[in-house]
Amino acid sequence: MGPRLVYFRDMAAIDIVPHTEVHPLADGEVRLLGAVRQVTGAMTRIEMGGGTPGATGGRARRILVDCGVAQGRERMDFPEAADDVDAVVLTHGHQDHIGNIPTLLDRGYEGPIYATPATLEIAKISLEDSLGMQRMGYREIGRFLEHFKSLTRPLGYERAHDLGGLTLTFHEAGHILGSASAELATSRSRVICSGDLGRSGSPLLKDPNTTWRTDAPVDVVVMESTYGSRDHGHSHGDIEHDLEEILKDAIARKAKVLIPAFAIGRTQTLLWFLNNLVEQGRIPEIPVAIDTPMGLAITETYARFKQLFDKESLDQLAHGDDPLDFEELFRVRRGRDSQKLHDRPGPMIIIAGSGMCTGGRIIGHLREGLPSDRTTVLFVGYQAEGTPGRRIQEAARAGGSVWLDGEEVQVRARIATLKGLSAHADRGELLHWLKAIPGARRVALHHGDVEAQEAFAGWAASQLG
Ligand SMILES: [Zn+2]
Repeated sequence: MGPRLVYFRDMAAIDIVPHTEVHPLADGEVRLLGAVRQVTGAMTRIEMGGGTPGATGGRARRILVDCGVAQGRERMDFPEAADDVDAVVLTHGHQDHIGNIPTLLDRGYEGPIYATPATLEIAKISLEDSLGMQRMGYREIGRFLEHFKSLTRPLGYERAHDLGGLTLTFHEAGHILGSASAELATSRSRVICSGDLGRSGSPLLKDPNTTWRTDAPVDVVVMESTYGSRDHGHSHGDIEHDLEEILKDAIARKAKVLIPAFAIGRTQTLLWFLNNLVEQGRIPEIPVAIDTPMGLAITETYARFKQLFDKESLDQLAHGDDPLDFEELFRVRRGRDSQKLHDRPGPMIIIAGSGMCTGGRIIGHLREGLPSDRTTVLFVGYQAEGTPGRRIQEAARAGGSVWLDGEEVQVRARIATLKGLSAHADRGELLHWLKAIPGARRVALHHGDVEAQEAFAGWAASQLG
């Protein structure tokens, strides 16, 4: 499919271009190195400032925005074109945006790594965890983290930072704590990389930025399109209502509620909803165990960066109610304490990694809990095909058993799925964000499967035209 030409704002044409690698600039180019025709593995190389005498003596500056790995069934080879960059910019701390940093450093990169302070903390926790899962030794991980830290340069939001020959400005992206859209500008061109965009009105986080300077057009917007083909259609109130019903049912059965959790973002959103339901008196306060060391570390990072929260959460804090902490919240750090939870009676909630049940402490809880009708397993995120999480959902429909870690386990537990907790904007929210950018000329879609990118290009064109 070719680019869709539409007119808006100042009546200049805007091209919305799906899955295309190279996008020219007056003084360089934008080149997508990853997530071109898939969701994960975000990595974009931007060359700017070429042929302009000044700080760089006319040599173009080469910036790598994000350095992610492919996840699930998606694949990518590390692109050689990433080897010669002068600087790295990270939009947020998810693995599909940072997971290839160890490889980049292995290949000799010694330049600066720019990100917001919260993103750098989350990146450190997440990289430490992923290297551990790849069975890298303790000392080697320590050496990597030292090296990584020596290259990092924390930068705040909404200030243009001079990178020598170009400026970098971070803007709120509302996706997870510290997430940012990155704006890069020279005297001759201007590029905005959306990073991952959150939903407007998400708990804890501010909405994605919609205020931009208007003194220059934007030549290329590199934009995520994960949900470019759909509307979430599930409001905040709907989520709260569904969660309330599921928990009331479990409490009446004195059941344990096992929640396979994604450590970064989703766990904290869930705590916010639980706290809110209790505060409003809609469910009684029951014990909640956070049984994921990484989830705990990230939750502590959220707590340290409270100043980034949205107004609603800051007001809550000002009134003495911490949205991420409550009386009956238990932090489970050691593996043997995790096992002790098996003997505790319900009702209680156990939040444990990993989100798709591919490993982590949730496996022990599932083995114990799935054969019992005194268990509810509550999925709070998408379960990819072939994962144990998906198999549990299927077994619940068909009746039967699943294999977990080489053991056949009967499924008698109640299986529920909470919809709408996505950390990604849907197509309407994506368009709302795009429309706020004054004088955008070209949109390079990425970070979405081919169908989602093409659907968004077509739909957005029809809305803007
Ligand atoms: Zn993300």
